[in-house]
Amino acid sequence: MELEYWLGRGVDAFREWASAYGEFATHTSMAVDEAACEVAFEELTARLRGSYPFFHPCYAGQMLKPPHPVAIAGYAAAMLVNSNNHALDGGPATSAMEEEVVEQLAGMAGFTAHLGHLTSSGTQANLEALFVARESRPGTAVAVSAEAHYTHARMCHLLGVPVQTVPVDARGRMDMGELDRLLSTGVAGTVVVTTGTTALGAVDPLHRVVPLARRYGVRVHADAAYGGFFRLLADGRTDGRTNGRTDGRADGRRASLAPETAAALRAIAQCDSVAIDPHKHGLQPYGCGAVLFGDPDVARFFRHDSPYTYFTSRRPHLGEISLECSRSGAAAAALWLTLKLLPLIPDGLGAVLAAGRRAAVRWSELINASPYLEPYQPPELDIVTYYPASPVSSPPRLSRVGVASEEVMHRGMNAKEDPVFLSVARVSADAFTARRADAVADADDTHVLRSVLMKPESELYLERLHQRVEQLAKASWTAPRRRGR
Ligand SMILES: *Cc1c(COP(=O)(O)O)cnc(C)c1O
Repeated sequence: MELEYWLGRGVDAFREWASAYGEFATHTSMAVDEAACEVAFEELTARLRGSYPFFHPCYAGQMLKPPHPVAIAGYAAAMLVNSNNHALDGGPATSAMEEEVVEQLAGMAGFTAHLGHLTSSGTQANLEALFVARESRPGTAVAVSAEAHYTHARMCHLLGVPVQTVPVDARGRMDMGELDRLLSTGVAGTVVVTTGTTALGAVDPLHRVVPLARRYGVRVHADAAYGGFFRLLADGRTDGRTNGRTDGRADGRRASLAPETAAALRAIAQCDSVAIDPHKHGLQPYGCGAVLFGDPDVARFFRHDSPYTYFTSRRPHLGEISLECSRSGAAAAALWLTLKLLPLIPDGLGAVLAAGRRAAVRWSELINASPYLEPYQPPELDIVTYYPASPVSSPPRLSRVGVASEEVMHRGMNAKEDPVFLSVARVSADAFTARRADAVADADDTHVLRSVLMKPESELYLERLHQRVEQLAKASWTAPRRRGR
């Protein structure tokens, strides 16, 4: 996949299509000076070097990575047209592509009948689901776990819907006893279940929430913005394609998910709605989320009449079933092209997720065996959480765990040679002691290290990553405390 070639092909195809409409004069107001462009472009690319190297496996921090070259080529080819998927008038070709990819996402989720569309983000997808929840269950609260994405509380505030927070268990998953107790009071009309939390990658037991919620007549929304594509690994056959691309250590067993995790992901099929972000684990550039509803009838909540946009078709427009107006048609084209080449099957896109999952499992084994690192909890998907071990075999002290974790992160990213980029997650003293009963809780909260291994290349780079992080953790034993943070 030579990016330069396919970008060129996109430009050629656009020019060829455009030429069919005949020559026309370009306006002088649009002209830019070549020399000025040279200077400005130089400045742009120089400033972009101020980014972190998300593309490299030495970046093992936040949920970030570049799009697949196929997605970039598809996006660029369609961006030349710049269609708007709000309405068929704005994007007839890319709206059709959007309907096709939504169909594929619905197939992966296990939705039979469905209504859905792409969104500009997971937050927007969740907002639409919460909006439909409010309209379907007026006057009730939304239950979310304490580990749910922070935007649920924000969007509920926006919608004027009260939020009820459900505590989590010692692995960061929604506590079923607490949820039962809450639902029995009748205050909540909807429960948001996160299948893959952003901080820990914990998967709420959705397969157990669904029957409970049904008993109380409560709606279920799955926030699978990050974890949704792991559904591809939830059917048992999870080895993924190797194609000689891995180093041979990769075996099918390690890619597998825990039975509870797999069951939870399969239960997405029974939810009233689900949000999935192709711009997280679907190899897409930012600007691509998705929301799906199991009941196509919820379209009635979106009804509106636009005086100027719907004139070309009697078919329902994507804009009639979404809250956003303008939306990138190129985002649909990019996803459409990506799924042509890496379809939503275990051997397609699933192989990409399987590699990250194997890397997470393998790293947690190495961390377990290391005298310099301690696991915070075992990875349920591809997020590894850990912290520098104490120098003597004494129980972890929260204040030191936080300082040492931040020390490792800062030293790693500021290293002149062999930098490594990690992130930290804040955890409460209660959450920490739930995992380490012997911990000394000398602070209300602390920070642990967190690495999202969402690039398949992490699997091949793992030994180096581990060595480097171990080295930094070891140095943190003797390192003088840095000031000013
Ligand atoms: C990332 C994320 C969101 C928010 O999605 P955006 O696309 O960043 O707006 C919501 N929920 C979960 C679980 C996420 O990981």
